[in-house]
Amino acid sequence: MRFYSTNNPEITVTTEQALFHSMPADKGLYMPTPLPHLGTQFFDDISGQSLAEIGFEISKALFGDEISKADLEELTHRAFPFDTPVVNLEAGRMAVLELFHGPSLAFKDVGARYMAALMSYYSKRSDKEINILVATSGDTGGAVAMGFHNVHGVRVSILYPSGRVSDLQEKQLTTLGGNVQAFEVDGSFDDCQAIVKQAFVDAELNAQLSLSSANSINIFRLIPQGFYYVRAYGQVRNHQKPIVFSTPSGNFGNLSAGVMVQQMGLPVDHFVAATNLNHVVPDYLTTGTYIPKESVATISNAMDVGSPSNFVRLSHLYGDNFNQFKANVSGYFYDDDATRAGMQKIYAKYGYIACPHTAIGIMGAQDFLVESKQNSIGIALATAHPSKFKPLVEEVLNLTVDVPERLAKLADRPKHSIFIPAQYEAFKESLLQTVA
Ligand SMILES: *Cc1c(COP(=O)(O)O)cnc(C)c1O
Repeated sequence: MRFYSTNNPEITVTTEQALFHSMPADKGLYMPTPLPHLGTQFFDDISGQSLAEIGFEISKALFGDEISKADLEELTHRAFPFDTPVVNLEAGRMAVLELFHGPSLAFKDVGARYMAALMSYYSKRSDKEINILVATSGDTGGAVAMGFHNVHGVRVSILYPSGRVSDLQEKQLTTLGGNVQAFEVDGSFDDCQAIVKQAFVDAELNAQLSLSSANSINIFRLIPQGFYYVRAYGQVRNHQKPIVFSTPSGNFGNLSAGVMVQQMGLPVDHFVAATNLNHVVPDYLTTGTYIPKESVATISNAMDVGSPSNFVRLSHLYGDNFNQFKANVSGYFYDDDATRAGMQKIYAKYGYIACPHTAIGIMGAQDFLVESKQNSIGIALATAHPSKFKPLVEEVLNLTVDVPERLAKLADRPKHSIFIPAQYEAFKESLLQTVA
């Protein structure tokens, strides 16, 4: 497998280079080439397979020439000790694909853990220590921190804005210890991101440490997200109905992963791109013109993205052809009032407690099925556990939401963070101390 930049398909790099450099020097995005076709037999045989087993099979097709089968099997099983079950809302008609059974209770675990496992595979063989730097506004940091915790040869430094993440999110970042160090920045998320960016261009620092990023641009976070679309297919294929996936979207990594695996042969009839008021992609699908905007704040805040970084990838997958794109993806968007009403209707109709993001996915599937595909089965991706948005969900649905045991127990663990001003030099000094 090689990887080319969306800005220049002529030049390709190795798996290891794309993994550790995240972004090509020409500021494009890496894409895998060639995308293998998995074969119809493969999809006929997967009904009983777990996420880890499917991940292993697809990983073999992608990286079997470079990484031994035994290593791929070990790393996929280590990455996915949880499954992604399909839960029926209305049998044969509407279902959710629950992606929140991992440690941070959101689908980002899947990408972060696979990327971490691959990085550990390569770093073991080179015996140089890798330093991952991540800025987080909350969610991504938790998935990355837990994904890399205790991973051999990798040290993780997480920068988060002090006082601006939820208590539970902070616990996920600050209680792990070991190879995970949290830096609590006296500033905003943008300050954290600016510090990380500066670190990557600091020649002196890069001469001392082998720095790498775990941001969502990394293609190895997207590739494993394709695995759960396949897992879902394995669970509903007995209905023998065309499948419509509805993906609640922000940066559009999740949807890009679905389209990528469709191009590897997964039988998907159609995708719904479901968003909140940040609806530049649904607008594009109506008008044919893509106009990135400033993001607006909503209650489904993990999707508050005005300029989705993966739009380029998605468009690229359709050969930058609007008609092809539009034939395969429909856009729907919902404001906060509609999202609250949707959460209530979903609970009333199906008895299902959906987080605001998941509710947007379910509404997208419902609206699309009613309008155009009466005989299809709709599968909405449930991107986060409702307890991740506990106060909001409890207020909207007027009930109590329990935090799963594995996360609730973090609440009693002591917090360890290094408090720093929002200044690059302060970060650099304390980073060098922690790794010394
Ligand atoms: C990140 C996130 C999304 C958006 O996913 P993208 O891949 O950025 O489109 C949706 N829901 C939740 C809960 C998220 O954390």
